[in-house]
Amino acid sequence: MSYTEDRAAWFEGQGLWQHIPESEWRDWTWQLKHRITTVEQLEQFMTLTAEERAGCSHANEKLALAITPYFFNLIDRQNPDCPVRRQLIPRAGELVISDGEMLDSLDEDGHSPVPGLVHRYPDRVLFLVTDRCAAYCRYCTRSRLVSNAQHYDFHPEYERALRYIEAHTEVRDVLLSGGDPLLLSDKKLEHLLARLREIKHVEFIRIGSRIPVFLPQRITPGLCELFRKYGPVWMSIHVNHPKECTEELRAACERLSFAGVPLGNQSVLLRGVNDDADVMKALVHRLLRMRVRPYYLYQMDLITGGSHFKVDVRKGLEIIRALRGHTTGYAVPQYVIDAPGGGGKVPINPDYVEKITDDEVIFRNYEGGRFSYPLKPGKPKTAGGATLPAGGVESIVVH
Ligand code: SF4
Repeated sequence: MSYTEDRAAWFEGQGLWQHIPESEWRDWTWQLKHRITTVEQLEQFMTLTAEERAGCSHANEKLALAITPYFFNLIDRQNPDCPVRRQLIPRAGELVISDGEMLDSLDEDGHSPVPGLVHRYPDRVLFLVTDRCAAYCRYCTRSRLVSNAQHYDFHPEYERALRYIEAHTEVRDVLLSGGDPLLLSDKKLEHLLARLREIKHVEFIRIGSRIPVFLPQRITPGLCELFRKYGPVWMSIHVNHPKECTEELRAACERLSFAGVPLGNQSVLLRGVNDDADVMKALVHRLLRMRVRPYYLYQMDLITGGSHFKVDVRKGLEIIRALRGHTTGYAVPQYVIDAPGGGGKVPINPDYVEKITDDEVIFRNYEGGRFSYPLKPGKPKTAGGATLPAGGVESIVVH
């Protein structure tokens, strides 16, 4: 069945928490304090399926359970297949470990010169600044360390990491991630941004965060002021389904954008969440309307207990094919696989190119039409007495 949505409607309001004063609802510390973190709390609001109850009873051995009241409102409590529910409420499938699944599938630990720092590409580092998130995604690549449910004992060493970056003049790009960096206090975040800005060879600072999605109240004027002061700071948010695009998220993206933060989105392709071209098209359109450029669509990493989320790569290619040429180019994310074992991100594209010879490249467009683009300079032509330069470009339909 195709996905349809009311494009003019944006969810907003306090939902189940009408009785809370608006000033508390809008306070991010209130949201954090009132997160749903136990199966008992969940069952006060909804009836769990047997599969969910089994998942919840083991959640804290793998990845903690936590959902902000704001985000909980987006769950359809009557529908076990709700795409928001699938992302946040543990299921028994998490306990099944399949062949090929790994705790650290990207070998981040193997590329970590200092606790909390991953240096895989020569000019970029990943700086894991915390193991905490506002809510926990059941498919998290870093579930080995995030929330510390697996006793990973993660202690980022900020000063050692900063000194490493200072000493490595080839590092021009620092990505702050975790866990979620925007859970740090403004003071800690300012310390990190100020120190990074002092390092002359660091040209590009970016943050990976799902806070705007789980806790848009955290995007305060004070936080935006930090981004203005130490900018440009780029940000990748993480939205998987159009239901997550609420009025609060739209307004948070606007505040970030007005503070000079360029915004991109990373989605993970997840079974039963967004493995559908209509869902993905609705999502990318909403993102553009929120000033967010769809950036990556990730094939899910080979995380332990993730097989119930796994989508066939051919489905991902079908989704990209349904977007490319059928909607605005800005709306089409890059579909990538982060190569298992630490090979880096590799774009996976539908095959538009049929053949390349020394003379031409033969390719198909989004409607399946076949085209040729000549690679050799064409013969000079004359027009109105003038000689045209050699090497002019012509597209010839060669049906
Ligand atoms: S917000 Fe990011 S780091 Fe945190 S659980 Fe979700 S995917 Fe993992």
